[in-house]
Parts: sequence; C-alpha cells; structure tokens
Amino acid sequence: MVMPLINTTKTAPIKLRLARDLVRTIKRGHPWVFADALRQTPAALPGSPAILFDNKKDRPIARGFYDVHSPLAFRVCTTDPAEPLDNAWASRQFARAAALRRMWFDEQTTAYRLFNGEGDSLPGLICDIYADTAVLQLDGDGPAAFWNASGIADWVAGALELKAVCLKPQSRQGDSGRALIGLLPIRPVTFLENGVRFQANLLEGQKTGFFLDQRDNRRLIGQVAAGRRVLNVFGYTGGFSVYAGLGGAGHVTTVDLAAPALQMAGQNWAINGLPPDNHLTVAADAFEFLAQAARQKKIWDLVIVDPPSFAPTKESVKKAIAAYQNLFASAATVTASDGLLAVASCSSHIDLPTFLTICEEGIAQARRRATLLSVGGQPADHPTPLPFSEFRYLKFGLMRVE
Ligand code: SAH
Repeated sequence: MVMPLINTTKTAPIKLRLARDLVRTIKRGHPWVFADALRQTPAALPGSPAILFDNKKDRPIARGFYDVHSPLAFRVCTTDPAEPLDNAWASRQFARAAALRRMWFDEQTTAYRLFNGEGDSLPGLICDIYADTAVLQLDGDGPAAFWNASGIADWVAGALELKAVCLKPQSRQGDSGRALIGLLPIRPVTFLENGVRFQANLLEGQKTGFFLDQRDNRRLIGQVAAGRRVLNVFGYTGGFSVYAGLGGAGHVTTVDLAAPALQMAGQNWAINGLPPDNHLTVAADAFEFLAQAARQKKIWDLVIVDPPSFAPTKESVKKAIAAYQNLFASAATVTASDGLLAVASCSSHIDLPTFLTICEEGIAQARRRATLLSVGGQPADHPTPLPFSEFRYLKFGLMRVE
C-alpha cells in the first residue's frame, strides 16, 4: 500500500482571497503570498490545504497550503486550481524532481539535492541525498503539517534504493534528528562529488551536513588551483580545500571557527590521498585571522572567502553590505599581486548586482583593482522558479586581483 505523501484532512480546502493584484506573478511561478496580501486570514490549523482566489473576479488561481500563524501565510503548490493536492499530484512532482537530477548526476556524484522545495513545486520540502542516506527537512510549521515525512521517506527510499532516511529539524535545539527508514546516521557518511571523496556528519553538521550548493564553484576552484598557495577562509569541512589540493595546489590553509568541522576537513583531505604536510587547519575567528595575516604581510596566490549569511533579514542588509565589503577588502589585502580571489554570499537579501558592487567597493577599499573572471551561483539541483529571485541566495565571484 502506498503511504500518504501529504497529510490530507477531510475538511474542504480553506478559501483565501487576495487583497492585491498578485495574479500575474503567481501565474508566472512566484510561490509565496504573505499575510498582508490576503483579504482575510481565517483561523485554521497550520498546513491546511487552501485555494487562493484573485482580488477582482473571485476566480480561483492556485492551490496550496496555509499557515495563519506565519507571515508567509500561503504557499502555492499548483497554479491549476482544478488540480487536487493528493498522492497522485505529489508523486508526479517527486518523479519530475528525480528526473531532473538524473540529467546531471552519474556515479561520480552521489550527493545532491533531490527536492529543492519551491524550486520543485514542493513548498517547504527539502531532501538531500548522501550516497545511500537521505535527509529530509521541512521549512516551518505549515510544511511540517502538510507533508507526511514518513510517506515521503518511503517513496524516496523505494525510488532510489536507499538504506536510511532521516528527518532533521531546522533548528538544532533539542533533538538532532529522527530516523524514518533504517538507522539514524550517527556516523559520518561517505559520498562522491565530481569523483572527489567526502565525509559528512549529517546530523551534527550544518544544513543537511554538507554545502551541496557550492559544488560547481568548488569544481572551478579545482581548475585554477595548480601550483598556488591557497587560503580557504570559512572553510567548514574543507570542500574548497580538497578540490584545490586535488587540482595541484602547493599548500592549502583552511580557517574556520568550528574545530570539529576542521577535523573533518583534515579527514576529507586524507581520504583523497593528499599529503598531510600540504594542509594546515587553523581554528580561529576569520576576521582576526585576516587582520593578523595582513599585519604580518602574509599573502596567498588563491584566497577563498565563503562566509555565513550576514543578512538574515531585510532590515540587516545595510549592515551586512558593510560587513561583506570589509571582509572582501581584508581578503584582497592578503591576495598576491595577480593572484585569485573567490568570494561568496549566501544571503537571499543581497542580489547579484549588489553583490558585484560589494566586490568592487571591497577591492577598492583594499586599494587594489580586480578583473572578474567568473560569476557563479547555485547548481542545477537547486532549481528556482524564474520570478522567485529571493530563492537564488548564492552568489559567487572569481576575480584576478591586480
Ligand atoms: N565553504 C564551506 C561552507 C562555509 S559555511 C563549504 O564549501 O563547505 C560558513 C562557515 O563559517 C561555517 O563552517 C562556520 O563555522 C564558519 N564561521 C562562522 N563564523 C565564523 C568566524 N567568525 N570565523 C571563522 N569561521 C566562521
């Protein structure tokens, strides 16, 4: 018997009406309606199925689910109001998402994002695959109530022949995760990415254990690292470092605040057969490390800076821009003349033009000049609806610093 993929209720869908004319953007694929754009916000359980009506003629325009307690009140599942949100609908979306990944990945890459929430018309549902283990995450109370995690685990394990599926809470207070199929992955899981071996601690690690979203940018770093001395700041478990090492870097220094992450970085270096003497891990505050390196006039031929998000909210953007700029300036200061500097931002509130301006200002602040060699972002297993730019959070730039 097929387990339900969504927690259907027997009650009819809630009717919601738009207070503003958002019909065009919704029809084009923007999947979010905030509470202030709804005419009424009736009481209902989080995750209740709902039909959205337009603000003029009372025509139904979308189906999705509703959370009266969240500012993000309605999430669109389909813009065909006649399409029932049932198992057939969900399994169709799952199969579409899986087919998209089969376009990109072979046995050389066994870790990838299978379901990217809104980007796969599966609002709030994340599923990352690490070899024979999957990690599910549900983004908020609405998705947690709408989606049936056990049924989804069953579907994914069956479709991909996995041994284990776990549900990882978004905030790490209290429980670290729950096994839905098989055993909880308490030990590091080994997987391949572009043929590079990695281990990740899925439960204790950040996100679902690894920053899958930097895959393409890591590959780029591997291509330009030959013969260079490399500094990887905010290096986490050494993703960029290992690619640089395999790409022929002379020496790599990985800096991060988190000692357990650095330990894993050392392990990831080792399991790829790289010489231990060519890798140094430094548990330190990145800002202090860079300031001290600048004082000591240290330089590297390739510097990578991939900080956590400085702008978690819209209100924090101004401060965040200044913080990114100062950081990129410090990084440029320790970059050799005609060396390479790679910088990233994972803040959805900083768009690409703003990011490039931050790069320009930061480089100027360091009294250097730079040539932009490549601009990157999220890889193809992190799809986004075209009108939903908020979802394209990752920006990456590779520059030659003169
Ligand atoms: N580049 C990594 C991901 C980096 S995530 C990859 O590709 O896998 C951001 C990292 O910054 C985290 O590992 C976090 O521990 C670290 N971090 C956060 N604040 C820091 C600080 N002030 N100094 C050094 N590291 C910091």
